[in-house]
Amino acid sequence: MPDGKRDYYEVLGVKKDADDATLKKAYRDLAKKYHPDLHPGDKEAEAKFKEASEAYAVLSDPEKRKMYDMGGHDAMNGGGGFGGFSNMNDIFSSFGDIFGDLFGGGGFGGFGGRRSGSMSSRGADLQTVIRIDFKDAVFGCKKEIEFDFKETCSSCGGNGCKKGTSPLTCPKCNGRGQVVTMQRTMLGMMQSISPCPDCNGTGKIIKEKCPDCFGRGYRRIRKRMEVNVPAGIDNGQGFKVRSFGEPGTNGGARGDLIVQVMVKESPDFERDGFDLFSIVKVPFYTMTLGGDIKIPNIDGETSYKVAAGTQSGTRVKMKGKGVPQGAFSRGDHYATLVVDVPTSLNGDMKRAIQAYKDADIRKK
Ligand SMILES: [Zn+2]
Ligand SMILES: [Zn+2]
Repeated sequence: MPDGKRDYYEVLGVKKDADDATLKKAYRDLAKKYHPDLHPGDKEAEAKFKEASEAYAVLSDPEKRKMYDMGGHDAMNGGGGFGGFSNMNDIFSSFGDIFGDLFGGGGFGGFGGRRSGSMSSRGADLQTVIRIDFKDAVFGCKKEIEFDFKETCSSCGGNGCKKGTSPLTCPKCNGRGQVVTMQRTMLGMMQSISPCPDCNGTGKIIKEKCPDCFGRGYRRIRKRMEVNVPAGIDNGQGFKVRSFGEPGTNGGARGDLIVQVMVKESPDFERDGFDLFSIVKVPFYTMTLGGDIKIPNIDGETSYKVAAGTQSGTRVKMKGKGVPQGAFSRGDHYATLVVDVPTSLNGDMKRAIQAYKDADIRKK
C-alpha cells in the first residue's frame, strides 16, 4: 500500500466479492468491538474504529467501491473520492443507523446523546420590554409581564401525536434529520448534508396528529406571569427568565425569555451606575447661620447638620445610600446643597433683608 493503509477488505476481514449484508455485518462486529464508548481514551481502539469505518464507508458505496477496486487507495485520495473521516462525529452522523440498533436504540452511554445531539436544537430566545419605576429598579420588584408564548401541548406532551400513538423514526434519514448526498462535480465526488425532506429535519414522522395542537406540540397563548426584577437593574439592561423562550426541537431545551427594562425617571434622584445624586434646596439663613436639615434619599431621609457659612454647591456624601450592587454592597448618594432663594417675600421679610443689606454696606 502506498501510504501504509491496509486493504479495506482486509480491514473488514471479508472477501473481495462480499455482498452488502456481509460488509455490514463485518463492520458492525468491528464497530462493536472497537467502539470508543467501550474503550474511553484508548487511542489504538479509536484508530481501529476509524479504520473500519473508513473501509465500510468506501465499500458500502457501490460507486466508491468500484473506484477502489480499480485503483486502490490512490484512486480514493486523488480523485476526491474519499479522504477518510476527520473526526468521530462524521462517523456517527454517517452510520448512526448502524450504531442505533447496535446498542439497543441509542440507550448506550454517551453515544445515544451524541446521536440525538446532532439533530436536536435549543429554542430561540424571546424578548419582551417592561417599564418600571425608578425605586423599583433600585430595590428590585415583582412585575407581571405578558408575552406570546408557545405552551407545550398538554394533550400530547409536546410530541404532536394523537393520544396513544407515538412518533415514528423517519425511515429516510433513520431519525438523524439529515441526509447525506453524493454529487459528482468538477472536483470529484462531493458530499453534502441537507435537512431530510421527508421529516423536515426533525427525524420523526407523525402518523396521527394530536387534534389539540394539530401536531405542532404546542399552543400559542398570551402568557401572563409574575417575574422578579433584580435589584440594581438599570435603564436599558435586561434579565433572563430561564426556559420561557421558544420550544427546542427534537428534545432540545427551550430558549430563555429576555426581559428588557426601561426605567422611568425620578423627579428627585439621578443615577450613575450604582451612585445616586440629588439637589437639596436649603434656606439661605440655614446656610448662613448653620442648622439641622433632612436630606431625602432613596431609603427615606437622613438628618444632616449644616455648618454655618456653608456655600451653595457644597456636596454631601451619604455612604451606602446608593443602588444595591450585589447582595452586600451599595453605591453612595451625593446630595448637592444649594441656596433656596426666596421668591415671595412679605413686608417683614423684605424689611429684614433690606436691614441686612444696609448693615453689610455700613460694614465695608
Ligand atoms: Zn398536542
Ligand atoms: Zn427524515
